[in-house]
Amino acid sequence: MSDNNTLVLNSLKSSPNGLTAYQILNLLQKTKPIKPMTIYRSLENLTKKGLIHKTNKNKTFHLCEASHNCNISEAHEHNSVFVVCDKCGLTEELKTNLFSTTIKKIKSKKKFDLKKFKLEITTICKDCD
Ligand SMILES: [Zn+2]
Ligand SMILES: [Zn+2]
Repeated sequence: MSDNNTLVLNSLKSSPNGLTAYQILNLLQKTKPIKPMTIYRSLENLTKKGLIHKTNKNKTFHLCEASHNCNISEAHEHNSVFVVCDKCGLTEELKTNLFSTTIKKIKSKKKFDLKKFKLEITTICKDCD
């Protein structure tokens, strides 16, 4: 794993609510001169490996919950399920395979590959309710 990937992972480790690409860039530029392209490449790389996920709603990157416990250099892929608060943006990756079997059975008419689905549930957290 490249140094930049490690830097990006570490910045996300200390940010449970996730960071946008821009926030990660800002954070890392405080310690060393780093080009935006480098960060974007790292983010793409880590996303492909399944070590981080991006939420659509807030455009934030999150360390994969599953990667907290396993060897970080070990690539793994899975269907991520996120729940996001519509008001404050609180985000959590749910550890569940409940949706996997069901969604993978759905037949698409337009050549969609449902095996690669990601799910994002938007709702309201207890604090905002
Ligand atoms: Zn995950
Ligand atoms: Zn909330």
